[in-house]
Formats: sequence, C-alpha cells, structure tokens
Amino acid sequence: MRFDIIRRWIGVVAVLGLVPPSAQADERKQLAFEVIERNVQQMTDISDSLYYFGELGMQEFESTKLLKETLEAGGFKVELGGAGMPTNLWAEYGSGHPKIAIVTEIDALPGGSQTPGEFTRKPMVQDGPGHMEGHNTHGGVASMAAFAVKQVMQRHNIPGTVAISFGPAEEQLASRPFIVRAGYFKDVDAVIYLHIRDTFNTTFGIGNYAAISSTFTFHGKTAHGGVNPWDGKDAVDAVVLMDIGFDKLREHLRPTYRAHRTITVGGIQPNIIPDKGQIWWFVRDASMPAAKETYDKLVKIAEGAALMTGTTFDVKYSASAWPQLVNKTLGEAVQKNVDLVGMPKWTEAEVQRARDFQKMHDKPVIGLRTAVTPLGGRPQASSSNDNGDVSWVVPAGSLNFPAAIPGIEAHEWKAGVFPTSSISHKGQVAGAKTLAASIVDMLTTPELIQKARAEFETESKKTPYFSLVPPDAKPDVDLNRAEMEKYRPEMKKFYLSKTPRFN
Ligand SMILES: [Zn+2]
Repeated sequence: MRFDIIRRWIGVVAVLGLVPPSAQADERKQLAFEVIERNVQQMTDISDSLYYFGELGMQEFESTKLLKETLEAGGFKVELGGAGMPTNLWAEYGSGHPKIAIVTEIDALPGGSQTPGEFTRKPMVQDGPGHMEGHNTHGGVASMAAFAVKQVMQRHNIPGTVAISFGPAEEQLASRPFIVRAGYFKDVDAVIYLHIRDTFNTTFGIGNYAAISSTFTFHGKTAHGGVNPWDGKDAVDAVVLMDIGFDKLREHLRPTYRAHRTITVGGIQPNIIPDKGQIWWFVRDASMPAAKETYDKLVKIAEGAALMTGTTFDVKYSASAWPQLVNKTLGEAVQKNVDLVGMPKWTEAEVQRARDFQKMHDKPVIGLRTAVTPLGGRPQASSSNDNGDVSWVVPAGSLNFPAAIPGIEAHEWKAGVFPTSSISHKGQVAGAKTLAASIVDMLTTPELIQKARAEFETESKKTPYFSLVPPDAKPDVDLNRAEMEKYRPEMKKFYLSKTPRFN
C-alpha cells in the first residue's frame, strides 16, 4: 500500500519532469522485480520441465517447443530453426535500437540422467541423458527476465528490442559460429551471456579458451591380415602415426596450448587390414590465432601420416569457439545489479542440505554462498564455450547466477541432483531480476552502450575475428539424434506437462 503511494508520487513528479534519472531507473527495476515475483512458478515450471526433457544438443525439440509457446503467449516474436538448425531459437520483443540480446543454451549431457533430490546415483532412465550442468535453468531465467523487461518497456514506453538467443548444442560447441555467420548479431547493440554457477557474479576480460574440433578420416585398402597384408593400406596405421606425429610436436608448442583426441574408428578385427580409420581432435589455446596455428600443423601431420601409409584422408569440421571477450563496461553495469539484488536468503534447511551433500561427496563443507562476488577479472579458464564467437562481433557482458552447490563440478551426475530444488529456484529468481535490471539499464542508458561499444572496438581490434567455419560447412543437425531417439520413449514418462504462462 505504502509502496503504491510512493510509486504514484514518483509517477506524478515524473510527468512534471522532476524525477532524477536514478529514481526512474529504480521504479522501472521495481516493476521488473514485481513481474518476476509474481511469475516465480511460471519461471521454475519452465526450468523444471527442461530438466525432465533432458535433451542433448541439436535435439532440444521439446525444450524449444515449450519455450516458443511460452514466449509467444508472452508477446514475443519467436523464430525456430534459423541458421539451418531446427532447434535454434531466437525470440524478440519490440523494434529498433537499442537491441539487447540474452545469449544462452539449454542442452543436457549424455549419461546425465539422475533422479533429482537423490543424494546417491539413481538415474531416472538407465544411461539416459540429463542435465548435469543446470542448463535447464537458463530457459526459465532468460525467458522470465525478457518478459519482465517487456512489461517495463510497455509501461514506460521504452523504445528498442529485447531478444533471446537459445543456441543449440553448446556442450559440443556446435552452433554459435553458424548463428554468427547467419548474421543474427549484426544489428544487436550488446548481449549478456547467462550461465548457472554456485557464485553470483559477472566478470570481464578474456574468459576462456579458443577451441577447434575436427574429425580426420583416413581411407586405405583392406586385405587379409595373415594371407596378403602387403596388398593392404592400413587406415588405422595412419591414425596411429598422426597421434605419434602430434606427440612429437607437443614439445614445440606454446605452454598455453591444449590438444586432446579420441580414436573413433579403430578397425574391425586384427586379421582384417582396415580401410577406414578415424580420429577426432580438439585443439585449444589462449587465443584463436594461436589455436589455429597449432591446428594447421595438425593438418600437416595428417598429410604426413597419409603419405607414410599410402592412404588418403578427409577432414570434417566439427566445431569451433573463440574465447569469450567479456566487456568491462557491461561488467560494471551488471555488477551494480548483482549488488542491488543480492544473494538469495537461504533457509537453514537448504544450507544444511548443501552441507550434507558436500560432506557425502568429500567436498569442502561450506554450505551455500552468502555473499555476491565482487567485480574482478578471473584467470582465463582453459575450457571453451562457442558463445565466444558472439563476443567478437558485439559487446558482451556476462552474468552467472547462484543456483548450484559450491564444490560440485558440472558434467558429473552429482550436478544433476539440485537443478530443480528450492535452492536452484531461489538462485533463478536472483538471476532473472539481475538480468532484467541490467537490460533495463542497457535499454535506457545510451552512454552505457556507447562506452561498451568504444571498449569493444578497441579490444576486438587486437585480435580481428575470423570464422573457422568452412564456407560449405553446415551445422551437424544429426548430432545426438540416435542417442536421443534411443532414450526419449523412457524419458517421456517423466515429463511434467506444464503450460507456463507469464502474466
Ligand atoms: Zn554451460
């Protein structure tokens, strides 16, 4: 009641032009927070539904269907299937500039099926996929924040556009270079990356590593291993020689490099000279030019291996990712809203549950974090995320929201225990509020966008962007298809059948 009176007062003086900009900003953010508070159930219904869909990259059909329907009902224009990927979702509301986009992902991981809330290993579907990084929460938080921003834009006649890009198959770095190549970010003024963490923070600087992933397939000639091996050309020998060749190179690479491989076709049985051998490589480094330099040497090694064995080979580009170039200006703006929203208020029971889980799995027993992380650049991580490509064509800020358990690493089933818990739900609320408030700032503060752009121009020029995607390459839309088709019938039994509608 009291708040209503204050708001009416602010409204009256706003008409008279007396309200300082900060009070106006506060009122807009307050509205966004109210919208989020009354839609907590809707938001968590989305996130929880996505958890049970547990869809692998490029197979996010149920997840994107739910998001599309929910966002369309909420007044968004939604495109599904852009850039040649059926599960690539782009949603937007409004028109013109400034145009601000949330960039995130919703894919699960193979073998991640776990009964939520169970502290010991208990898959819902044996060997099935599941969310063991919490990407399911991104669906709810991004949609909720965008809807709240839309309500603020409508109420306050704020011009511009708010967009969401749910890129497929982040876990295999498989989509963003294609989305960038298709021009989705050409008219975007700034983006915010969204990710679940156990911390509540933003950051700036070069966030992680560049990566290039390709599959090398060698073709030889088959023969009987005992009777006429001299007639054969062993394609698996070529694979082995490529592996040895790269090991010889390792000494001469920068200490920052990473390279790892798996042999995906290694022959049939010993007495058959294999006419096909295949090896899948990841090459990484702290910058894309450095990774590319190593990758070019890798291709030369493949040529050498083919020459030595009399085989031929072809290379299939699988994926690539530039390191994230995170904008400091946007980081400072996001941090203000992280500080404004603050950590969720955990109950004693929630903290105890986190402690019990940490103790059970030999992790430091610290419970849940109680303070937001101050702004700072972090050491460059040697992991990669294909959203990195986006940050070299448009200024990118970053937001991590606290919806996971400290010390529990992603990509393990243990990270699948809490994504639908009250801890996760509270973290999602904090994330949605911060994201919405930050976008409101970006839509209404032209100086912020100008400053972010100026910083971006300087920083991105230091390493001019080039795409690793070969001109004729198409996204691998069959990625994970067989795996998903195998498990989906069993997984369907757990679907939540929610129809969230924001109001
Ligand atoms: Zn992730």
